Amino acid sequence: MTYDHDNIFAKILRREIPSKIVYENEYILSFHDIAPIAPLHILAIPKTPYTDFSDFHQNADQNIIIQFYKGVEQTILALNLPNGYRLVSNKGESGGQEVPHYHVHILSGAQFSTKEMFKKAH
Ligand code: 5GP
Repeated sequence: MTYDHDNIFAKILRREIPSKIVYENEYILSFHDIAPIAPLHILAIPKTPYTDFSDFHQNADQNIIIQFYKGVEQTILALNLPNGYRLVSNKGESGGQEVPHYHVHILSGAQFSTKEMFKKAH
């Protein structure tokens, strides 16, 4: 899939669309999801243009990948989540991905169950 430079997250990175930023450095931007599905719902996106998890891991430089995940951890530290969190990344139709710029959802403030997550699929 070719990267679409007009996707919503590309516009957020270019500051064409506002977002509520919780953490940012050279490699990552982390901001509140506009339609939260948990009491705390943050999106962490690399500043480099990759469409999804597979594109990022197959094509990004190792340092970019490492720095992104260090940034996800820095985001989590900044959020102070002593009760934990869930990380989610969707790809493609089966994953339910809507925005074609690689991102990790950080969900917290509720007790999630992996079994509940798959209930609807059966
Ligand atoms: P996906 O389904 O692609 O994994 O997740 C995309 C997420 O982006 C959704 O949870 C959706 O609510 C969020 N989102 C879509 N448009 C915007 C926007 O303009 N601003 C922000 N902050 N989040 C958005």
